[in-house]
Amino acid sequence: MKFLHCILWIILPLSAGALTINGLPYLEANEVAGRLGMKTSWIERGKRIRLESQWTRMEFELNKREMVLNGTPVHLGFPVAEHRGRLCISESDYSNQIQPILTPQLNGNPPGLRRIVIDPGHGGKDPGAQNPSLGLREKALTLDLAKRLQRLLQANGFEVSLTRSDDTFIELDERSAIANRRGADLFVSIHFNALERSSVSGVETYAFTPFKQPSSARADLHESDLRNYAGQQDGPWSTLLAYYVQRSLADSLGSSDRGLKRARFTVLRDLRMPGILVEGGFVTHPREGSNIGSAAYRDKMARALTEGILLYQKTLSRLEGTAAR
Ligand SMILES: [Zn+2]
Repeated sequence: MKFLHCILWIILPLSAGALTINGLPYLEANEVAGRLGMKTSWIERGKRIRLESQWTRMEFELNKREMVLNGTPVHLGFPVAEHRGRLCISESDYSNQIQPILTPQLNGNPPGLRRIVIDPGHGGKDPGAQNPSLGLREKALTLDLAKRLQRLLQANGFEVSLTRSDDTFIELDERSAIANRRGADLFVSIHFNALERSSVSGVETYAFTPFKQPSSARADLHESDLRNYAGQQDGPWSTLLAYYVQRSLADSLGSSDRGLKRARFTVLRDLRMPGILVEGGFVTHPREGSNIGSAAYRDKMARALTEGILLYQKTLSRLEGTAAR
């Protein structure tokens, strides 16, 4: 079985820097570094590698489906692989996860950013995640946070509306339809997490899974990964936004950083603008839960979300300025 497994990992050199590993095109980490003007160094020979430039640091670990970009975990579609003692990164991850963040000038024309739709998760008959002992109900927490975020974004000159402004139930596909009808430039869905295991805590930000990649929660490609969705059109911009928002949230809250993840959430599937889904922490974790229950903490979250969106806006403005010259 071991031998069979080995021959399944067929490695064929294609062109300079391009390899096929397990049926997928891969790039050697050195090739990735060269393309991005970065230098490589081993953290642990043959196992962990660092790619570095003046402003950026990326770390990869053999067999891991994650990289750490400037301290932020970014989940990859495929595991980091090895070829002749060198670590390799899938081409799909290079173009869908690395490029959108590090070379956004290649993402195409920067989208406008004026109208934002915030989507407070759950509502009405759907309470979402709960922690009865702390008196927490996700639907009330998301609405409160959404309203705080709305005020802050409005103060920064954005036109902001909510998919619901009271305790109403709205179907998931209707939420993205609302953003599409309103001609939004950006969509932010807000949620909180829950797990039976109360020791788990931390924030995570989701962008829609790229075409032909498995979502973070899945090990392998699934038939649904090979379909085209409207929500993929602005994939690179959603990725960039998710990265800024996740970094800002983790820095500001000091909570466990669960990283930028991928899922084909219904609420993101049909969007015709960049969009993300934020999981602002676990109501089931004793300390994080009681933090989330405090208005001051939710205010801090709203400020961190605003900061992430402003960083995204700053990058769009810089790219527009470059395009105009
Ligand atoms: Zn939720």
